Amino acid sequence: MKDANCIFCKIIDGAIPSTKVYEDEYVFAMRDINPQAPVHILVLPKEHICCADAIDESNSVYVAKIFEAIAKIAKAEGLEKGYRVINNCGEDGGQTVMHLHYHILGGVKLSEKII
Ligand code: AMP
Ligand code: ZN
Repeated sequence: MKDANCIFCKIIDGAIPSTKVYEDEYVFAMRDINPQAPVHILVLPKEHICCADAIDESNSVYVAKIFEAIAKIAKAEGLEKGYRVINNCGEDGGQTVMHLHYHILGGVKLSEKII
């Protein structure tokens, strides 16, 4: 189910343009508009799930599908030397868009902090 007020739901529906890199039945992935690394991709469920805190038995299939997609995207992006996957959850976690998403960061040797 989509949320009419959610920018990522609108992107998934094609109402707002994005640089899509991957899509399947469960997952949508696009380049981050403000990249923090040479490769910076956001991987999101096609269902509106606000955040990691809202994952439960009814929707955890999306998380499995997201991580299947991450492995495919990393190969397609040439990230064979590795990459980082980050999820920010809620206010203290620094989440700014309240539609669950995982950041893939790569294409450079990342700092060992955080974390
Ligand atoms: P977070 O702080 O974890 O919620 O991350 C939200 C991310 O979404 C940030 O890295 C933004 O740069 C990115 N972002 C916001 N709007 C868009 C957009 N329209 N297209 C692509 N990335 C976006
Ligand atoms: Zn949404």
